[in-house]
Amino acid sequence: MKFVKVNMSEKSVQFQEVPKDYVGLGGRGLTSVMINAEVPPKCDPLGSENKLIFAPGLLSGTNLVNTSRLSIGAKSPLTGTIKESNAGGTVAAALGHLGITAIIVEGQAARGDLSILRIDEKGEANLLPAQAYKGMRTYAFAKKLLEAYGEKTAILCIGPAGESQLTAASVQTTDIDGRPCRAAGRGGLGAVMGAKGLKAIVVDQRGKSADAIADPKAFNEAAKAFAQTIKAHPFSGQMLPALGTAGLVAPVNSLGAFPCYNATKGVLEGWEKISGENMAKIITERGGKTAHMGCAQCVVHCSNEYVDKQGKYVTASLEYETIWSMGGMTGITDLDTIAKLDYLCDDIGLDTMSTGVAVAVAMDAGQAKFGDGEAAIRMVEEVAKGTEFGKVLGNGPAAVGKHLKHHRVPVVKGQSIAAYDPRGMQGNGVTYATCPMGADHTAGNVIGDYLGGALDPLKPDGQVAASRNSQIAMASVDTMGLCLLASVVLKTPEGGEAFLKALNAKLGTNLGPEAIPAFGIKVLQAEREFNRKAGFTSKDDRLPEFFYKEPLPPHNKVFLISDVDLDSTFNF
Ligand code: SF4
Repeated sequence: MKFVKVNMSEKSVQFQEVPKDYVGLGGRGLTSVMINAEVPPKCDPLGSENKLIFAPGLLSGTNLVNTSRLSIGAKSPLTGTIKESNAGGTVAAALGHLGITAIIVEGQAARGDLSILRIDEKGEANLLPAQAYKGMRTYAFAKKLLEAYGEKTAILCIGPAGESQLTAASVQTTDIDGRPCRAAGRGGLGAVMGAKGLKAIVVDQRGKSADAIADPKAFNEAAKAFAQTIKAHPFSGQMLPALGTAGLVAPVNSLGAFPCYNATKGVLEGWEKISGENMAKIITERGGKTAHMGCAQCVVHCSNEYVDKQGKYVTASLEYETIWSMGGMTGITDLDTIAKLDYLCDDIGLDTMSTGVAVAVAMDAGQAKFGDGEAAIRMVEEVAKGTEFGKVLGNGPAAVGKHLKHHRVPVVKGQSIAAYDPRGMQGNGVTYATCPMGADHTAGNVIGDYLGGALDPLKPDGQVAASRNSQIAMASVDTMGLCLLASVVLKTPEGGEAFLKALNAKLGTNLGPEAIPAFGIKVLQAEREFNRKAGFTSKDDRLPEFFYKEPLPPHNKVFLISDVDLDSTFNF
């Protein structure tokens, strides 16, 4: 257990034993507790006082499947709140194999100065000059890094958007094939990395100094049982490998909750063309891959490789939230165009969700017609070119709304909503409003309750409790490093039991089931405390006015949850 502490002002790298206050934390649990304790809440997110923390989950780097999430935390330049954004790929497992609990980046390099942090097979870490890579897009950059440091290198990097400190900038990370196609997209953490002067972190995947497992035999038994439950579950074992997350396009449109044409309708005309079913058909016909192991240790394979008519790689992985933002919100129903936009965002280093919604706001404000794919591509390219409009677009939908004086801007605390309209899925609206990190698709999604029939998505009853439970559960899952898509099995008796056994065997503890939500509550308390100190109040836990005033077809509902009920979400 050790921290790698990087000071960009001094260009120094040091190792530190994990202080006792942070022992037993990982992933989002570690990033959020540490930011709350150590980052001045009112600091400039793009200044030297902010810290950028990279933390594998508590179980990352073990042989427990689907635990390859890496949490990245900082004060967000997009929302001004505390922020954690996590990504899959290969870095979390690589850090786990080296016994590295977190990389903590402090200070700030001189403006324009760029470095790479390299951690080699033995765990030695050095800052190296990166001026030669200035302005480089992520695909070309990752290729160069793999040539320089070898194929067994896991990469985190930023593109031109991060270097320009635009607040929709992502941190891109490599999949198992070395492509920088996975993203910690939300919250503008790529801009924080750019402000620090860090172009990339490269980690050798061949480390052999992982932290010891307290009871390896019990751990291996539990890990085997856990993998079996994931493969046997209809969602993680059947739907995701067949259709990926894009399998949600059909059910969410059927529920009338697919925000489209900048959240003015709940069903997209021609949604069938961008459905998971049609995507799988196109990929199969062209010889691409409908199921792909995007992240280390994954047995679900929700990823895909989208190819063009000639069978040439376009992007990986084309996912539900991107299909929605670049398709539903913009009215674009051509998957080839959406795939191109996904690739462009990954290459420039932009959050696909914020960027798609920013394009949709621009279209709604009259800059282009809904459905105009060429206009959307042109707008996104402007970000890389650094034009005046490109700079506005790269700062996300709120910046576009302000620039164009447009009222309909679907953001909370500056961050765009996700692919579930709060008027058609009221509980997701509670999460958007109250989540300490702005509107978010992973921090408390209630869709499982609607699809399973446990809750009516259109009625206010039960929505606050559903959001609360989901937010607590996700804060725990993000602490463990477990992929959200595999975490569905925690709700089954066998899955929950196997996971708890593995956790206890790893830590040498005897925790009961109540310990899992306790992690989540601790994380949410730290996040809310940071936000309070930063000046946020319950008045910030609200949706934009138009969600309360403009009914969403086809159900013609507005958002119905009262302020008093929203303020009761965190009753702990
Ligand atoms: S299910 Fe998908 S996102 Fe999750 S670990 Fe596997 S490939 Fe990555």
